[in-house]
Amino acid sequence: MTPSGANATITAGSAGIPERADLLVIGLGVTGAGVALDAASRGLDVVAVDAFDAAWGTSRWSSKLVHGGLRYLAKGQVAIAHESAVERGILMEVTAPHLVHALPMVLPLTADISRGQAWLARRGVGAGDLLRLVAGTRRETLPRPRRIGATETRTLAPVTRHDVRGGILSWDGQLEDDARLVLGLARTAASLGARVHTRTRVVGATGTGALLRDELTGEERRIEARGVVNATGVWADQLVEGITLRPSRGTHLVVRKEALPGVGCAIMAPVPGSPNRFVFALPQPDATFYVGLTDEPVSGTVPDVPEPPEEDIAFLLSVIGTALEQPLTRADVVGAYAGLRPLLHSNGSTADLSRRHAVLVSPTGVVTVVGGKLTTYRRMAEDAVDKVLAVSGTTAGPCRTRHLPLLGAGTRDELTRVDAPARLVRRFGTEAPLVVANALAHGLSRREALAAVSPTIPATLAELLFGVTHEGAADVADLLDRRTRIGLIPTDRAVAAPLARRALEVVGAATAG
Ligand SMILES: Cc1cc2nc3c(=O)[nH]c(=O)nc-3n(C[C@H](O)[C@H](O)[C@H](O)COP(=O)(O)OP(=O)(O)OC[C@H]3O[C@@H](n4cnc5c(N)ncnc54)[C@H](O)[C@@H]3O)c2cc1C
Repeated sequence: MTPSGANATITAGSAGIPERADLLVIGLGVTGAGVALDAASRGLDVVAVDAFDAAWGTSRWSSKLVHGGLRYLAKGQVAIAHESAVERGILMEVTAPHLVHALPMVLPLTADISRGQAWLARRGVGAGDLLRLVAGTRRETLPRPRRIGATETRTLAPVTRHDVRGGILSWDGQLEDDARLVLGLARTAASLGARVHTRTRVVGATGTGALLRDELTGEERRIEARGVVNATGVWADQLVEGITLRPSRGTHLVVRKEALPGVGCAIMAPVPGSPNRFVFALPQPDATFYVGLTDEPVSGTVPDVPEPPEEDIAFLLSVIGTALEQPLTRADVVGAYAGLRPLLHSNGSTADLSRRHAVLVSPTGVVTVVGGKLTTYRRMAEDAVDKVLAVSGTTAGPCRTRHLPLLGAGTRDELTRVDAPARLVRRFGTEAPLVVANALAHGLSRREALAAVSPTIPATLAELLFGVTHEGAADVADLLDRRTRIGLIPTDRAVAAPLARRALEVVGAATAG
């Protein structure tokens, strides 16, 4: 069965949520959206809700890497590394080839990196390649890592230090945009019958139902369900007892591509004193780089949106600067963001905490799925739904998501043949023509629909409009901070806000008319 996206929509507010369902999923980050898709594709009647918006939480603050778990391998955590590598392959080759591409990554061998360290790094990426092979991911999907000379290093990354003696080139998966993966999961779930609602907060839950509050109207309603999954990430301990989280903050900087001219790969710089940790400058599709990331334990109340502190910004600038001939300065930083990893409590530093996920059952039967990472969302969802079925005694088919492409997915060949602007194909895959047709159906000219917001902001009115009509965007922030990522640079946000308002007005007018 190939899901169809034309009528797969996300709804803002709780209107239309039924009194009963097989499964209630709380939270529409990558984990909750993955659970909703897993359950809907097994034939369950699913309601999935988020208090704010899809991709509101940690899932939009990631490094946007779909990684093969090299770091876990270095720590001897072979099972986690293997799971990551398998899930990376599934994402890149089956579920979301339109949203995940191979990213070349270069570790420049500067004077700071000894020959022994370089040898270890070379061995590490070799082991990562073996993991790719064992995971069954094709060589065409992720090329072979290799040692490169100084000239090739400086061709791929001309900004690296002039005294570089060579580099190590490896490959990993990179997401076009983490929030778009969440939206793709949520809409694919909707295409299979799941009811997906934002602005719907769960105020209390047991294993057989929950009290919901519509955050647009304040209205409350109950829903009964045969199973309830708590996929609320760093907020998971607020809905059920017996979970202790130890969040860790990861900060990224946003710099424009002019700050790192000519760079066509990710640049890695080792964190002094931590052999397995690196700061990355990651090229992004929208003419920016993200530089990340930190790993700092945090305590106290979990904020709705974490703030990146100045000390994180200084740390990232100083570490990435060790690889560059001309270090970045504070003035190059046009934006910054921070996210909180939902790590389960254990002893030790957060950088060493196991990133493996956990599925826990509360005394009333709420199944909480927490931890893990974006790359392994599918496996987390499978484990959570298996547990709900076991706890509630519900029968359903086996997990199907390993072979289920998301809306918009297609082979590389199919994607190159899609008749639509390249940016839309990158973000919507085979659904890109639907995004254009949707804009024309709302009375926009092709020119107006596809014009870039500005010379430095390539987003278009067509995609903003699709955000409103199909992806549940209810306001300017939904459009600029999650349907697109324009809001990561505050000055760009101000430029784009009128076009976001226009998208909302066009749909308002179309609905009224
Ligand atoms: C800085 C950083 C970088 C990372 N980089 C990567 C990476 O490159 N690759 C990778 O694989 N992983 C990465 N990770 C890990 C990954 O991002 C997270 O593990 C993952 O996004 C967690 O998703 P989640 O759905 O569990 O939580 P969230 O995305 O936080 O979703 C939880 C949702 O629950 C909602 N919610 C909360 N309370 C309620 C309620 N009462 N009612 C209704 N809804 C509620 C919230 O609004 C939110 O949308 C990174 C993490 C961080 C912090």
